[in-house]
Amino acid sequence: MNIVTDIIDFVLPRYCPICNERMGKDEQYICFNCLSSLPRTNAHLIKENPIEKLYWTHLPIERATSFFFYDAQESRETIYFTKYFNDPKVGTSVAKAMAEELNEVGFFEGMDMIIPLPLHRNRKRKRGYNQCDFIAEGIKEVTGLPIERDVVLRMVDNTSQTHLLSSERKENVKDIFELKRPETIKGKHLLLVDDVITTGATTISCGKELAKAEGVRISVVSMGYAGKKFLSNDNR
Ligand SMILES: [Zn+2]
Repeated sequence: MNIVTDIIDFVLPRYCPICNERMGKDEQYICFNCLSSLPRTNAHLIKENPIEKLYWTHLPIERATSFFFYDAQESRETIYFTKYFNDPKVGTSVAKAMAEELNEVGFFEGMDMIIPLPLHRNRKRKRGYNQCDFIAEGIKEVTGLPIERDVVLRMVDNTSQTHLLSSERKENVKDIFELKRPETIKGKHLLLVDDVITTGATTISCGKELAKAEGVRISVVSMGYAGKKFLSNDNR
């Protein structure tokens, strides 16, 4: 772009957090290669998209989308996602890339604050961090929206949902969240952030608790979507 960025790039080379290849000066958070390899859902470009529909009848839902299809069984995706899901800092970089794309189509318009889906404190202590906090950080850096933690807490450390049937998931996450500071979110449009959405059961459970505050509207975003695949308008 100009000589200054050329020099900075030469003196301080940047590397893609996913593949560790050196990034060019036009590559921002992750390299173009990795960015284009993520299988987009592009759900936010579809009217009444299938992810949004998961929340109908359950929440005062405004918008919902996920960045990419996540299939743990598919080997071509394994490298990216193993790295992404094990390294929270990679999560922030990928979240920034996601937020840039969503920002282009006005996905964040009218939203007031970001609520990272809370982890139970025992689980957070064990893992050392909440993955959703790092995703929220990436979205904040792009949008400037504030992050509100501790508005809602996870009171029950329920086991992993992956082996459960859809009906069991809903039962497993019922009443596991508790709204702590309703006055903070009263009348606000909240962006609830999760790492992976499958049936939406966990975000629905958390969203129901948030919706106990007066006049709340909710949008949901996740990095991965592990539910049933749908046509994504993605020609890559
Ligand atoms: Zn890369």
